[in-house]
Amino acid sequence: MDLLLLALLVALAVWTARKVRAWWLERRALAQRAATPGYSPDNPIVLKGGLRVEDFVEQARCVCGGKVQFLGETSRLGLRVARGRCVECQRDVDLSFVLPRMLN
Ligand SMILES: [Zn+2]
Repeated sequence: MDLLLLALLVALAVWTARKVRAWWLERRALAQRAATPGYSPDNPIVLKGGLRVEDFVEQARCVCGGKVQFLGETSRLGLRVARGRCVECQRDVDLSFVLPRMLN
């Protein structure tokens, strides 16, 4: 009986450690993501020199590493926002853009 209880506690400890590690890795990935231009409205990509929104969306990756499917474009708070969805985990990925003349 004691052995069964010990096995249960070990299994619970391993499960908890995996959950905490996954949470920590996702949190770190989201923090790195926020520092990358485009992934936050506070840090938009500046569209200049004929660069297209679609090109950035093609290169964008979800936090899980999956490709992003372009769903459309909208405007929000004076920014152009490309809406996308991860083809792997179905998470929404929005990219924010600003035109150079909007910075003035
Ligand atoms: Zn994903």
